[in-house]
Amino acid sequence: MEGRHSFSGSVMAVTGGASGIGAACCRHLAARGANVAVLDIDEENAGKVAQEIGGTSFTLDVSSETSVQKAVSAVSTSMGRIDGAITSAGIIQSPLRPDELSMDTYDRIYAVNQRGTYLCLREFGAHMLGRGSGSLVAISSITASRGTPLHAYGPGKAAITNMVWGLAGEWGRGGIRVNAIEPGYTLTAALQEQIDKGQRDPSRLAEYSALGRMLETDEIASVAGFLLSGDASGVTGTSIPVDAGLLQTLSWAPYGGARPPRD
Ligand code: NAD
Repeated sequence: MEGRHSFSGSVMAVTGGASGIGAACCRHLAARGANVAVLDIDEENAGKVAQEIGGTSFTLDVSSETSVQKAVSAVSTSMGRIDGAITSAGIIQSPLRPDELSMDTYDRIYAVNQRGTYLCLREFGAHMLGRGSGSLVAISSITASRGTPLHAYGPGKAAITNMVWGLAGEWGRGGIRVNAIEPGYTLTAALQEQIDKGQRDPSRLAEYSALGRMLETDEIASVAGFLLSGDASGVTGTSIPVDAGLLQTLSWAPYGGARPPRD
């Protein structure tokens, strides 16, 4: 971690910290010296991650306003303050036709991904406003800017990208930066489950990107760490794709896909 901004002495909170991208963010921030709050609906795995990194776990359901308020208050009370937060809690969707996608599923995806992210940003932001500084990173998705068969997930992620634009203007003068990351296909338990069900083709997920591979969770975490740190002190109201170049290489498909290296 040499040369990187240290988080020593700071408190960082991560929702969805029990698994996948969120867990990688917890490990990354702890390795850089942060005292990390691991927040998740999955109490058992949140506890395991917290134990591994010397942090503290908190249970919350991001879709519940009361639960989010209680959890953020518990983190600030027990850990003293919150300097930065990453919202990674989310659920992935099966690629269903509109007539197959029940409104119960649609509503749940919105409740967790969009509304849940908003509630967490709102509560972390309120705490940070009281202190006059802070940095927030929301995990969106590359589906925010491309059409996909994910008719609840994609528009919900587009809303998250838009959300950070609005909140950056709302809170910038209060010393708070708000940004998003749009990950490409990142090999986590959630994505592996979709692959196992035959709902995502791993060779295509890799093949269509410029780098010819999927992302590792660490590669998302290091960009989240950058955005939280003083290294990104001038960055707010933006959403960074961390997608192995997928958004750009998709339009190479009519030309036979990204060019292989010359012999
Ligand atoms: P994951 O399933 O490994 O982790 C998600 C975590 O969120 C889990 O620990 C889960 O318990 C928690 N969670 C779910 N519902 C919750 C709720 N109501 N309250 C609190 N916690 C809850 O998934 P992941 O792949 O690491 O995804 C993390 C984030 O990254 C999600 O927002 C997802 O949409 C986004 N994302 C993932 C990918 C990918 O390819 N894996 C790509 C783009 C975006």
